[in-house]
Amino acid sequence: MEPEAKNCVSLHVTSAAERQLRQGHPWLYDQAIRKQNRQGDAGDLAVVYDARNRFLALGLYDPFSPIRVRVLQRQRRRPIDASWFIERFKAAKDRRAVLFGKRDTTGFRLIHGENDGLPGLVLDKYADTLVLKLYSAGYLARLLQVQEAAAEVFGSRRLILRLSRAVKQQRIKGFADGQLLSGQPLDGAVLFEENGLLFEADPVHGHKTGFFLDQRDNRMEVSRLTRGKSVCDVFSYSGGFSVYAAAGQAESVLSIDSSPQALASACRNMALNRKRGKIKNCKHAIVEADAFAHLSELAKKKTAFDVVIIDPPAFAKAQSEVKQALRAYGHLAELGFGVLRRGGILVISSCSAHVPAEASFSAVHQAAVKIKRPLRELKRTHQPIDHPVDFAEGAYLKCLFAQESKAL
Ligand code: SAH
Repeated sequence: MEPEAKNCVSLHVTSAAERQLRQGHPWLYDQAIRKQNRQGDAGDLAVVYDARNRFLALGLYDPFSPIRVRVLQRQRRRPIDASWFIERFKAAKDRRAVLFGKRDTTGFRLIHGENDGLPGLVLDKYADTLVLKLYSAGYLARLLQVQEAAAEVFGSRRLILRLSRAVKQQRIKGFADGQLLSGQPLDGAVLFEENGLLFEADPVHGHKTGFFLDQRDNRMEVSRLTRGKSVCDVFSYSGGFSVYAAAGQAESVLSIDSSPQALASACRNMALNRKRGKIKNCKHAIVEADAFAHLSELAKKKTAFDVVIIDPPAFAKAQSEVKQALRAYGHLAELGFGVLRRGGILVISSCSAHVPAEASFSAVHQAAVKIKRPLRELKRTHQPIDHPVDFAEGAYLKCLFAQESKAL
């Protein structure tokens, strides 16, 4: 028995949960717990036993989350120590060998939570800076081991800690969102390359860990569609899609976002790439506005674009919000058509894990039919290789590339 075992919370669960854990699901919900030997704290390890008292899984206990246990280890017991983390980190590195081999891409995801066997733990790389984002306070008790593994496997110069909203709310002493864990303090943003384009990211204050690394492949695809075109990038954030569109020789790009900080960053990202000659003659404009309101306004003025990119934040944060989210999404697609030139290309993405891909694609088609602007699909895409999918809930990103087609 491992040394930690005597301190573990022991759990017995419903037979449905047993089945799910056996099938490799990484979460145990609070409602599935039938019996528990004691109340646990964040950071405790929990051992789940089956009905015949055999070991099923070992995981991080989280008294503040409906996901009460995040499974670290199944089938056989093992101590969760530095070498355990090193092993997992190495496996995640191997999966990303292609990206490590790309000299023109220095920013990507190193560890994608449950899908890399480390539920609730994300590690992103921006050149020499690593950003660790924790969705469970349980890891804070093991931070030194995590840091040791990050240093050994990924050799970072600087490590920054980000905490999810839920972890932040627990106000755990000694830990703050944006805290420097090792290396030199950051002097402003970090710079990194993605497919040969230069970007800044703010790992301390930015969304996620500073940049939407999951859209890399979709952005590349966009750059192949924009030569000589007018492009509207809705929900632009720091201009990821805008910069690729411009680098693909778009004639003009309009970035729309409600955040002035995001738009300022989009302008800096454009400038960085103009300086390097990656963007030549593209006109870039920004609008700080609510995207819904501004798209309506543009449509009223009969402004239209050859390519419209819509990459909204997640509309459904819970299962109960899916219906409402799909309605909002359909509405957004309609607004997108309102500013799409005849025969133009719509790129529309959804990042709500709760909304199934098929439902979001069909919401777009329904919107197209409703306003009599039928679409021909060019491509459906999902997540890039550094955001692997290991369980159903891990498949969150979907993107549709479609062109308006004349009715046959
Ligand atoms: N496309 C971006 C990521 C978008 S993230 C990229 O590739 O990097 C979502 C963005 O939507 C955020 O920048 C946020 O500021 C913006 N946003 C959220 N609600 C908005 C609204 N109602 N109108 C305009 N922008 C909004």
